[in-house]
Amino acid sequence: MASLVGEEPLSLTQELDLIAFGQRLRHIRKQRGLTLSDLGERVGRAPSQLSLLENGKREPKLSLLKSLAAALNVPVEDLLRRQAPSRRAQLEMALEEAQRDPLYAGLGLARLKVSARVPNDVLEHILGLYGELRSRQAKGTATPEEARAANAELRGTQRERGNYFEEIEKAAAEALSAVGYRTGALSQSTVQALVTHFGYTVRTVQDLPRTVRSITDLRNRRIYVKHEQLGMHTPRTILLQTLGHLALGHHKPRDFADFLRQRTEANYFAAAVLVPEATAVPYLLEAKQDRALSVEDLRDVFAVSYEMAAHRFTNLATHFLGLVCHFVRNDAGGIIYKAYENDGIVFPADEQGAIEGQRMCLQWSGRQVFRSSDRFSVFYQYSDSPTGTYFCVAHVDPSRERDFAVTLGVPYRESRWFRGRETTHRTRSGCPTGDCCRRPPAELTQRWEGYAWPSARGNSHVLAALPPGSFPGVDEADVYGFLERHAKE
Ligand SMILES: [Zn+2]
Repeated sequence: MASLVGEEPLSLTQELDLIAFGQRLRHIRKQRGLTLSDLGERVGRAPSQLSLLENGKREPKLSLLKSLAAALNVPVEDLLRRQAPSRRAQLEMALEEAQRDPLYAGLGLARLKVSARVPNDVLEHILGLYGELRSRQAKGTATPEEARAANAELRGTQRERGNYFEEIEKAAAEALSAVGYRTGALSQSTVQALVTHFGYTVRTVQDLPRTVRSITDLRNRRIYVKHEQLGMHTPRTILLQTLGHLALGHHKPRDFADFLRQRTEANYFAAAVLVPEATAVPYLLEAKQDRALSVEDLRDVFAVSYEMAAHRFTNLATHFLGLVCHFVRNDAGGIIYKAYENDGIVFPADEQGAIEGQRMCLQWSGRQVFRSSDRFSVFYQYSDSPTGTYFCVAHVDPSRERDFAVTLGVPYRESRWFRGRETTHRTRSGCPTGDCCRRPPAELTQRWEGYAWPSARGNSHVLAALPPGSFPGVDEADVYGFLERHAKE
């Protein structure tokens, strides 16, 4: 797909599927009994140019589209409709696309040129085989190893770019300006205007499959969402993520890494729309000048979740505020679900460098917040670690059905820009070695080793990997401590 640039935008479709367009053009031309030269004469173009169009190799300007439509006596929309004009054209298009797939090309077969002599059932047969080839290829791509490697690689890219993605910021800013956004939090009507801007409508349904957040019907240009709050993934955010896929021109993911990249980009787009760079940056710069940087304030000003605000902070902090930082989201047991750093903090990681599913140090603020007397208020702490001291702000969002702590941290020297820097909480962590927290005290180990048989709680769904240990997902130090406490009763 390609966008039509350089001329007035098409309201009907922002994107033109060149292959579908070419097929349709050829079909209508033949229906009219015209040769390429006939049509070329009518629109004042060389037949070779039209041939390029019909083969999906060139993008038509809007002016040419209009003269083609006039010459063929059809409305412009008829030329642009995505649906194939006939079953035959649909098959030809599908085969054309299939042969462009590297997977297909990798078979090393001579290119099949579909002439009128190739019957439909042969095309259907080939496409059936291709479909099976694709689905077999797709299976097994997301092994835990590959998932972990993909996560680690993506995090590397994010770190390199200070978690700032200029092209996505630009796409978000363009969409916002198209619907007349000026400043402040995004209203529901602006979200609605964005959906309309992309040529879609929203349908709220109750029977959305459990495994999806939304489904987009590309043919009828509808986005199906379920009416419910899912923490950071409110219907508003889910809609914007879906629009992100459209705005960024995503295609069906090739593999898990591609899927992950697309999902991250779509999330980024949603965040960049909800907390627009143009408004958020001046706000943050002023807060820094006042030495009152605070994720909470960012959350309140833009009416987003705490997690969204913290994550968005990491997008803008390095690029605009000159701050390195880290972000982590973990559950009450200390298992990490999401993490980012460019400030040198060392997260626990497996051999592939994946952090998701690892249990983080008990001394870190994301775990300490669960032990604080008021776990739902914002928790500030200085954490000494082998790579230096960090100032960390952790918060458990009470609006979510499950408790997750979201932490934003910066190196000690940057604490001066933040609210809460006067905190007296201070911990010392030796992790990632685990000596400070992971191994049970020697005395307890001596007493309980071999006498504990915990039954692990079914660990989570979203994690690519379970934390290591003899009972995966189970915190032995916790188990031994528990046994010790209750053994005395
Ligand atoms: Zn530790």
